[in-house]
Amino acid sequence: MDKVYLSIKNISKEFPAGEGLFRASKLRLKAVNNVSLDVYKGKTLGLVGESGCGKSTLGRCILRLTEPEKGEVIYNGIDLLRMDKNNFRKFRKKFQIIFQDPYSSLNPRMTVGDILTEIIKFHSEKSSADTRKKCFELLNVTGLTRNSINKYPHEFSGGQRQRIAIARALAVEPEFIVCDEPVSALDVSIQSQIINLLKELQSEFGLTYLFISHDLSVVKHISDYIAVMYLGKVTEYSDKNKLFENTYHPYTKSLLDAVPVPEPGFRRERIKLKGEIPNPVNPPGGCAFHTRCPVKISDCEKTFPEKYGDENHYAYCHLMKNL
Ligand code: SF4
Repeated sequence: MDKVYLSIKNISKEFPAGEGLFRASKLRLKAVNNVSLDVYKGKTLGLVGESGCGKSTLGRCILRLTEPEKGEVIYNGIDLLRMDKNNFRKFRKKFQIIFQDPYSSLNPRMTVGDILTEIIKFHSEKSSADTRKKCFELLNVTGLTRNSINKYPHEFSGGQRQRIAIARALAVEPEFIVCDEPVSALDVSIQSQIINLLKELQSEFGLTYLFISHDLSVVKHISDYIAVMYLGKVTEYSDKNKLFENTYHPYTKSLLDAVPVPEPGFRRERIKLKGEIPNPVNPPGGCAFHTRCPVKISDCEKTFPEKYGDENHYAYCHLMKNL
């Protein structure tokens, strides 16, 4: 039985809708709507869904990069969201984030050595010699050469820059990393190299990941557990194998359509996703997926489905009522 590392309970986050003059309106965008999930120690929870489903906002809420209106993030019995900011800063070192675009998150005027030194010095009292040694260790574990230390971010490829971003996250010896679409901007061949690197680092340092992606085929390669989100809510959750063996939710089935099937001759039930994700400022009533769901029934527009399944694999869909 895996041990719970973080327990995310009933997180909700809204933003004012509209810009400029329209910002004064009372309309709110519910980016994350009452989401509860457990993250297990040393494991990867994959969070998947289309752009705008709230997955990145949820990752940012956990790290308090944005403050949710409601909910708890329980770590060792303590609610991190209720902790005062000074105390939270001490915990913050344990929690790091890697972004989709490493170029914009790396200072272009600093060498890799300076980038790593800055963060090591900020969080520790290492001597200059030990800091430099640590920089070389970080380059080594992330697959970068020693002479990278004197180069600037623009001198690297996209994949190498993501390695620098990973090295920077590792510099403070974190326990938990939110990987926010870390391979989405990379070529497919480079994507698998970065995923493999993240997996190696996880087993070497016992890291726990929240891995966010719009692409279920990417999430599949790294995750132990997967939560699927649609318009701010979790629609299905499972351990990875069960999700792919017996998919419950029509939305997950539509995302699976894009995942290559490894066995020749194997046919998967296919659901073609039509139309755009609805406006989250004014989400559809009932099951929010009903405007695109090809198998909806009359209840779907009227009532939000209950949770069906068990704690290891569940989904919110009226069709599961009769299973
Ligand atoms: Fe489709 Fe209805 Fe299930 Fe929603 S509840 S996924 S609309 S069948």
